Amino acid sequence: MNKDSQNIKILRGRTLSFLRQPEGVDDISAYSYFEDGGVAIKGAKIVGFGEFADISQRFNGKIIDYRPHLLLPGLIDPHLHFVQMQVVASYAANLLEWLNNYTFVEEQRFADPDHATLIASAFFDTLIRYGTTSAAAYCSVHQASAEAFFGEAEKRNMLMIGGKCMMDRNCPEALQDNAQTGYDYTKALAEKWHGRGRAKYAITPRFAITSSPEQLQSVTALMSEFPDCYMQTHLSENMEEIAFTKELYPEHQDYLAIYEHYEMLGTKSLFGHAIHLSDRELDAMAQSGSVAVSCPTSNLFLGSGLFDHDRVQRAGAKIAVATDIGGGTSFSMLKTMDEFYKIQQLNGNRFDPLLAFYRMTLGNAKALSLEKNIGTLGVGSDADIVVLDAGATPEMALKMQRVKTLAEELFLLQTLGDDRAVVETYVAGKALKSGLR
Ligand SMILES: [Zn+2]
Repeated sequence: MNKDSQNIKILRGRTLSFLRQPEGVDDISAYSYFEDGGVAIKGAKIVGFGEFADISQRFNGKIIDYRPHLLLPGLIDPHLHFVQMQVVASYAANLLEWLNNYTFVEEQRFADPDHATLIASAFFDTLIRYGTTSAAAYCSVHQASAEAFFGEAEKRNMLMIGGKCMMDRNCPEALQDNAQTGYDYTKALAEKWHGRGRAKYAITPRFAITSSPEQLQSVTALMSEFPDCYMQTHLSENMEEIAFTKELYPEHQDYLAIYEHYEMLGTKSLFGHAIHLSDRELDAMAQSGSVAVSCPTSNLFLGSGLFDHDRVQRAGAKIAVATDIGGGTSFSMLKTMDEFYKIQQLNGNRFDPLLAFYRMTLGNAKALSLEKNIGTLGVGSDADIVVLDAGATPEMALKMQRVKTLAEELFLLQTLGDDRAVVETYVAGKALKSGLR
């Protein structure tokens, strides 16, 4: 009995939290689900999770009743670019044209701290609106953009991974650092922000095209100086990108071999896209515990290719799924999973809705090595929670009349849902979405 309940609140609703990766829609031991569930929150942490009757007996506190809605852990987006909010929906033939015509122009605006703060603030409010409580984001090359990113995340107490891009060639001069300044600025930012509150730093060389060998050498040094930090970069997104990369690094046998040479693989290394990989590359990803981060709406939008979930999983590599704003076209992790599902259909893979919701929550948390903090409603987790309504729009409500199982409801949310299906978003125990309206 824990009736000592100062500052406790109890969220009541239908609660769903994964315990491990499900193997099909009938795999009921992969998750905890309570038709009338309760989540007790004290401060920023979850202190109780189970049947509401049990939780309300054990804890005294304010009850917030969300029935009949679903309560899940906050959604996690492990790859996007906060500096590309105004690049979304830019018309281009392919990745390299899109980078040169829009993205590299837009990112130059982030030298201005005021602009960076304005967009960072809009960025986090947007994530909250869409039920995303944690993300791994690229900032621009400017320190100001990373300062704005972490500063605004801290104001909202959000668990965010981010880093300033490192780029010293093949982009406009205004977006270039060099091997030395890229190292110095990254080091200063990592020292200041990594582990401060909920912030985590990611060493962020954009990709091999925009980093010289000298710069990648400085990434090696940074990774050994800051072994607890993340490393994020792009890998094998598009065929022209791969061909250009091979021209720049002819001495390496394939794309991933470049990153291997600079010792950039590991359990905290996030490789965005990872579409066109050889068996050797996939094997090296698996052996090193590196993460392949698929970005479905971006891959379709830029015509980059179709990430094969089952092939990557068979190879034993870790998988995450992300929006990749602004190559991606939606901030919604629900919509992202809808597009990921369609890509798996084209690959001939079955991708069931339980697996989709696992990927958005515990799966992405595990890919980020953060499953002890986020991605579940388990006791001791950070109280990042999303409340979802599968009848949020008239057509969803109509379809809900025919829905009989939890898996069917999740599939409806994934197929037709977006920010309108997000009733509330809790970040570190605080309801933030309702405050935005
Ligand atoms: Zn990206």
